[in-house]
Amino acid sequence: MKLTRRDLLKSAALLPFLTGDWRSLAAPPPLQAAAAPNVLIVLFDSFSACHASLYGYPRQTTPHLARFAERATVYHAHYAAGNFTNPGTASLLTGTYPWTHRSLQLFSPMLKAVAPHNLFAAFAEKSYHRLTYTHNLVALALLYQCIEDVDTFKKIRDLCLLDAQWADKLFFNDYDLAIWRERLFRGGEGLSTLPTSLFYFFANHAGWERKKARLNHIYREQFPRDLPRHHDQIFRLEEAVDWLTASLPDFPQPYLGYFHFSPPHDPYNTRREFVGMFDAGWTPAPKPPHFFTLGHSEESLQQLRREYDEYLAYVDAEFGRLYEFMAQAGLLDNTYLVLTSDHGEMFERGIWMHLTQTLYEPVVRIPLLIAKPGQRIREDVRTPTSAVDVMPSLLHATGQTIPTWCEGRLLPTFGDEPVDPDRSIFVVEAKANAKSAALTQATFAMVKGAYKLVHYRGYPGYENEFELYDVQQDPEELENLYTTQKDVAADLRHELVSKVDEVNRPYVRG
Ligand SMILES: [Zn+2]
Repeated sequence: MKLTRRDLLKSAALLPFLTGDWRSLAAPPPLQAAAAPNVLIVLFDSFSACHASLYGYPRQTTPHLARFAERATVYHAHYAAGNFTNPGTASLLTGTYPWTHRSLQLFSPMLKAVAPHNLFAAFAEKSYHRLTYTHNLVALALLYQCIEDVDTFKKIRDLCLLDAQWADKLFFNDYDLAIWRERLFRGGEGLSTLPTSLFYFFANHAGWERKKARLNHIYREQFPRDLPRHHDQIFRLEEAVDWLTASLPDFPQPYLGYFHFSPPHDPYNTRREFVGMFDAGWTPAPKPPHFFTLGHSEESLQQLRREYDEYLAYVDAEFGRLYEFMAQAGLLDNTYLVLTSDHGEMFERGIWMHLTQTLYEPVVRIPLLIAKPGQRIREDVRTPTSAVDVMPSLLHATGQTIPTWCEGRLLPTFGDEPVDPDRSIFVVEAKANAKSAALTQATFAMVKGAYKLVHYRGYPGYENEFELYDVQQDPEELENLYTTQKDVAADLRHELVSKVDEVNRPYVRG
């Protein structure tokens, strides 16, 4: 017979009667030290904090997140370390900035020396069972670099209705090779060759298109704009949430779960009840185009923004289902539940999406909510924080060692020491740079207190530009203070330029 924990507790309560030790009834000694808490990180790709009603956005995009916030710590000035999946995800996974992990372009891996320093490896200290899943091929390539340190690596197709990743059927023991082959056959990302592209098209693509059309037809009632999709992966977020709620109680404990779901990444294929919900009411004021405008008209940006907001409401509802289940099942009593993103999304200044050289708030400010085990009240933190802080904070909270390579610090409310409100946070966009070279054509942002200094370096026509914003007083970044607040600008400029010189030094020859 297998004794459950409850049986053990019952027999322990009877023990004083049997031994005659009546005094111990008042305060029975604990049977064993409490098990280490679980850690569940839920990441929604391209989730901009600037679009969440929780953070003050005028459209009611996140009512469920607001309920979760009632028993969580809400970080109001939390920043991704980059503005698209590679730098943003790699920084979260390693606690290092992009200038260290060097995952600077789409699909570019982290440095081989950095990859073993990942979240999963760090959670081995206390024998955590480590699980991961993503819908996103770009994130998958990074997670694959951590595969040695993951116990349960759920395959991308397990939670997809359709995927085009047929290459991993041939190379199922080597995701790296499978992804590389997939890209080669698809002829994308600069790897295009006519024979392989033609082969891909005739062998696979036509069949995939037919299956996609059939699926979209089947689900038309629920998803009138087509099913959610990330590149060739077609899925419903419902499947992922259903799988998590069914599996969470049975994960080996303690566990570390990192789940990187694709929505609200484009295309913004929301569920029927959210379609058109923001057609009336508030519309944002237009902003002037930036030097790096992509030429999108104000009208198309407004339309895309409405669709993104509607998709965000779907993400919010599905996260709400997960949260509700965990709360009712009592799973939050022994779990850190973390909600965050890898970067934001942009609908202004002629720029759409997140492939941009700019680092405006919508594309780099992301949500961070953490419910600590048994937390019952809401806490609000307004000090700037970074994605590189998440890993060291969770390690500290679970009694594990913070590795020396971590560039992050303990998040406010996680440590006993007072937090420096003027500590500097960095965001880096460096797609144009080689992995093993100094960052010479790049954008750097430094957030310090209320200020954010942005430095554009080495771009033809925009070589050595600075923009300074007071993001507390002017969160829309409408007034560049660089030439009017000269003293502040000079101090911040000195600090940021010194930092960039410091991180570039190992890559400068001579
Ligand atoms: Zn992403």
